[in-house]
Amino acid sequence: MDIIHLLPDSVANQIAAGEVIQRPSSCLKELVENSLDAGATKIQIIVQDAGRTLLQVIDNGKGMSETDARMAFERHATSKISKADDLFSLHTMGFRGEALASIAAVAQLEMTTKRAEDEIGTLIEISGSQVVRQEPDSCQNGTNMKIKNLFFNVPARRRFLKTNSTELRNIISEYYRIALVYPQVQFTLVSDDEILSDLPASNIKQRIENIFGRQLKKGFSQHLVEIEANTSIVNIYGFVGNTEGTAKQAQQYFFVNGRFMKHPYFHKAVMTAYQGMLMPDQNPHYFIYFDIAPDAIDINIHPTKTEIKFADEQPIWQILQAAVREALGKFNVAPSIDFNREGEIEIPQLNYNTNIQQPSFKTNTNYNPFEQHKKNPPKDWQQLYTPTANLTQENNEDTIPLFENNLTDKKPYQYANKYIILPCSTGLMIINQHRAHAAVLYDRFLALNEQKQGTKQQVLFPEIIDLDISQAQLLTDLTAELQIVGFEIAQIGKQSFSVDAVPAELGNENPTRALMNILHEVEQTGKSAHSAWHKSIAIALANTAAISSGKSLTEEEMKDLTDKLFARSEYIFTPDGKRIITIIDNKEIDNKFA
Ligand code: ADP
Ligand code: MG
Repeated sequence: MDIIHLLPDSVANQIAAGEVIQRPSSCLKELVENSLDAGATKIQIIVQDAGRTLLQVIDNGKGMSETDARMAFERHATSKISKADDLFSLHTMGFRGEALASIAAVAQLEMTTKRAEDEIGTLIEISGSQVVRQEPDSCQNGTNMKIKNLFFNVPARRRFLKTNSTELRNIISEYYRIALVYPQVQFTLVSDDEILSDLPASNIKQRIENIFGRQLKKGFSQHLVEIEANTSIVNIYGFVGNTEGTAKQAQQYFFVNGRFMKHPYFHKAVMTAYQGMLMPDQNPHYFIYFDIAPDAIDINIHPTKTEIKFADEQPIWQILQAAVREALGKFNVAPSIDFNREGEIEIPQLNYNTNIQQPSFKTNTNYNPFEQHKKNPPKDWQQLYTPTANLTQENNEDTIPLFENNLTDKKPYQYANKYIILPCSTGLMIINQHRAHAAVLYDRFLALNEQKQGTKQQVLFPEIIDLDISQAQLLTDLTAELQIVGFEIAQIGKQSFSVDAVPAELGNENPTRALMNILHEVEQTGKSAHSAWHKSIAIALANTAAISSGKSLTEEEMKDLTDKLFARSEYIFTPDGKRIITIIDNKEIDNKFA
């Protein structure tokens, strides 16, 4: 008996669906791309249970005829290409004709669609690849696609899904990736009957502001500068952050021919353009759009993959880097020396702490006080500054002979209301007061978590904070952890929260600032690292409550602080890896008088 047979279509489609439709957000992406390909100018997205029970996309695009409405769900059914050559001149988002067949294989769906030229539209209902019903329907122009109970017939897939809040975050980030490419299209996103996002038709910059500038980060787009480069191989357009348009977790987007992409190599080009201008652990925001002949990129990309190969990556790297530099230079945000006299740049030495604004110990006789070198930490400054070269974080032998030298008996001085100076046997020790305090406080905040109940301090006038969508999600996820340390937070609107109590240890610090720091810190360490959340929270609270630089300290306070610092097993780096102490070596000082 022959044993090879063709799989029934429904099985083949289910297998294929596994590739294209991995989770609600990938399903949503396919649907919205179809709406865009159909020329829609208004797209409404409705999800329920993060897309598990309902994913609905309503568009005002060109719609389908009665026959097409049925054909659309066949495998390899597409109106977008008809011959292999078309693949090389592709200008639509979809082309494989796989998405709808795949979705239909793993969900129950209902679609109504109508072309403007038709009297009446069509309704079609499909469940697990089987057409259940098709009939005329008096619907509006355009297409209304309802995907119900995704993966209802694939339990393994269903189990593979993450929590609702994670799946919703995926949906939101997919939504942003698309909305940022089609600013002329009006989008709304509704989740469980709440409007999460409502984006009017606009231009790119306004769209960026509408997405990221809402609420707390108002004025987000003010710190963006325009970039543009038109060449024979590629056109590049977009916005990059000036030196204030940075964040620990920056918004960084590349798009090629209207498609979001990740491109580590081009990312390096952008970062290279910023070289010497960024504070440590700050990253620039960027929104960069490449427009390139379709045959110059590999279009045969997998629908769920975001990496895209370019035929000519090297020259594009150069063009991109130059475009970003030029934009930064034009707006005077980069030290001009970087641009005009490349190759002749004098690297300021002894830039031992990039937070220092007025370097007090200069070894470079060519030091130019007008050079903004606090923004210009040379890449290898640790090596340039040999005496502390062994104090880099990578070096575990990083020790300071504290106790042998009875350092704690020495009289501390405060410098610039920022640093504590302690003479020691090998030289002058400089301690960053804010970081020292943060390290000490970290232990206390961490202990709160271990005790499982922090002391609460009710806030007299509850602070209301407004967040963007993904931050609001994150805060919701963090609620339990925050309660343990003493926060009392109530959600009062879809993106608004009231802070009713804070950990007593926080003192008079602004609760909003504390919470924002926590959100940033958690985002920074990775939202998925749940087990490390309590540490991120402790770091953020410590940074919030620590004495700021600029605060003058009495000798007693300095002594108390350094005693506590040196009582820690780690006193050179903060728990988030920032340097607390550096030493200006005796030899270095002697040399200055040689
Ligand atoms: P592809 O987008 O790769 O062509 P799909 O399976 O996503 O394949 O869609 C199949 C076809 O169904 C499309 O080529 C298009 O003709 C039609 N179609 C899908 N969604 C819409 C929509 N929202 N409006 C109009 N036509 C649509
Ligand atoms: Mg498609």
